[in-house]
Amino acid sequence: MEIKTKYNIGDVVNYNHGIKKLKRYECDVCEGLGKVELKNGKTIRCPRCDGDGIKVVEVNDVEERCGTIKEIRVDISEEETMVMYSIAHDYSRWTLERDITGIAEPLDF
Ligand SMILES: [Zn+2]
Repeated sequence: MEIKTKYNIGDVVNYNHGIKKLKRYECDVCEGLGKVELKNGKTIRCPRCDGDGIKVVEVNDVEERCGTIKEIRVDISEEETMVMYSIAHDYSRWTLERDITGIAEPLDF
């Protein structure tokens, strides 16, 4: 069996790297005030945001990175062939072939 991969070890590639980002929203109950007024005129700390006026939510995002391919892994099953790359600086994670956007342009010095 011959396995062909789109990229080779040593290739410098651009790729999309999934990251978690914190996004801050103004609280939709107290509109950022951190407190709410009850019908009887009393003001209490907003129960939704705990008085902060904001809500912090973790969202998925993508960051474009550039790196050198150090390892290639191919998983072959009856259904599919999955090619993954280990890229310098992100050793802990395997990058799927579809997340690589192309060979990086060489830098001029
Ligand atoms: Zn609130």
